[in-house]
Amino acid sequence: MASRSIIWFRRDLRLADNPALLAALEAADEVIPVFILDPKLVDENGSKRLAYLGQSLRSLDESLGNKLHVRVGDEVEVLKELISRYGATSVHISTEYEPHGAARDARVEAAGIELTRTGSPYAVAPGRVLKPSDATPYRVYTPFYKAWCVHGWRKPVAAPKVINAVTPGKDDRNFPDWPVPGGTQISEAGEAAAMSRWKKFKKEALNSYDEARNFAGIDGTSKLSAHLTWGEVHPRTLLAELGDSKAHDVFRKEIAWREFYGDVLFNNPGTDTQYYTKRFENMRYDDPGEKFKLWCEGKTGYPFVDAGMRQLLHEGWMHNRVRMVVASFLVKDLHLEWQLGEEFFAKHLIDFDVASNAHGWQWTAGCGTDASPYYRIFNPIEQGRRFDENGDYIRKYVPELAHLSAAEIHEPWLFLDGYSKGYPMRVVDHAVERHESLARLQEIKEIKEIKEIEK
Ligand SMILES: Cc1cc2nc3c(=O)[nH]c(=O)nc-3n(C[C@H](O)[C@H](O)[C@H](O)COP(=O)(O)OP(=O)(O)OC[C@H]3O[C@@H](n4cnc5c(N)ncnc54)[C@H](O)[C@@H]3O)c2cc1C
Repeated sequence: MASRSIIWFRRDLRLADNPALLAALEAADEVIPVFILDPKLVDENGSKRLAYLGQSLRSLDESLGNKLHVRVGDEVEVLKELISRYGATSVHISTEYEPHGAARDARVEAAGIELTRTGSPYAVAPGRVLKPSDATPYRVYTPFYKAWCVHGWRKPVAAPKVINAVTPGKDDRNFPDWPVPGGTQISEAGEAAAMSRWKKFKKEALNSYDEARNFAGIDGTSKLSAHLTWGEVHPRTLLAELGDSKAHDVFRKEIAWREFYGDVLFNNPGTDTQYYTKRFENMRYDDPGEKFKLWCEGKTGYPFVDAGMRQLLHEGWMHNRVRMVVASFLVKDLHLEWQLGEEFFAKHLIDFDVASNAHGWQWTAGCGTDASPYYRIFNPIEQGRRFDENGDYIRKYVPELAHLSAAEIHEPWLFLDGYSKGYPMRVVDHAVERHESLARLQEIKEIKEIKEIEK
């Protein structure tokens, strides 16, 4: 009888440069490719992300010649059934470092299923980059980046030429039927879509990435984040094709932010929900109420903020510059805790990554790693003027402002017909809230000083 191994796909939905798949193929004559849908997880995921995952599974199945087993149920039960049915001698996975995935794998192992870990979703696995001086993890990005480059990573490996996979039974083909929610438009999922996006980006935008990446209305970034999140492409594949130009260097640095945040969350468990800098727990925050609702709906009355939130609702993706602006607005203009925004992003982003999201939020809120100082508060009007000069981005997502010129669109309250198409009034006055925010910062500084005196 042919020997068999299981390749358990999770956030590595690709065939190229997939070390766990190669290890599974090497371990046996035939592989059993499986994806397990845990109903608990399905409940927690937003509809846009589920629709994306559904498409990605179909694409993986196609590359596997329709041999992907898709099972709904508890991971331990499903794996035990597959092991016993097929006589599988090993179960192969790509190592998970984020809290949910790591805990799930630990639970599977505690139930007596041995997992063979090969590779990870990172070029350099979390925990590997340490300070040479005392072998502790980095807390600041720039020195991490330098050490990460010195550490280096392996070259990508091509997809296997032949994959001998067992043919799934009827009951193993539980592909979810998650439609793209009405009125939304998500990007195409799957390994082939990832590679075609990468090719397009390399040809059209990579060489000007350093200059164009901040402009919200330009297609100047790779839009590979959802592909990276679901492992439809491995970061090594991208890194291997970068040269030494300034633009390529800046792109490499962005990939490294993802690696840095993966490392930070791994070394600081709990910071996906808790304050990285503890003293910000003591800050005075407001109750969410109506103003949180308006932020979620993209109706704050600040055009650049609203355009970003509506892009998120419509596409499940938002430009990085605008992510920073809306996050700053939630924390520093509305005085709400970053976790509220983080959860909302988690529900809506197709590229949701727990480490990048939580630490992207904490960084902007001023309580994270290497944070821009808290008192540096994004001005939502100036940010719009700088990074959406002509107002094209705002016009695309906020039709009530589409009739305004570039000079008018960032401050509709100054113009006679600014509100003529139903655009909402400003929920707060930025100039006032900026001062309020700084006053609240002063309070926690004083608390800290008092505590130090009391020591
Ligand atoms: C509040 C906030 C929340 C965020 N939440 C997420 C999230 O859930 N998932 C996510 O992938 N990114 C998140 N980011 C980071 C960043 O906004 C996105 O990675 C980026 O916008 C994705 O677009 P892109 O693929 O075109 O990026 P590009 O500019 O083309 O960058 C290439 C890749 O580098 C990585 N990258 C770029 N910038 C960052 C960054 N600041 N932090 C971490 N990785 C980065 C991403 O994997 C990205 O795909 C968040 C940022 C902020 C400020």
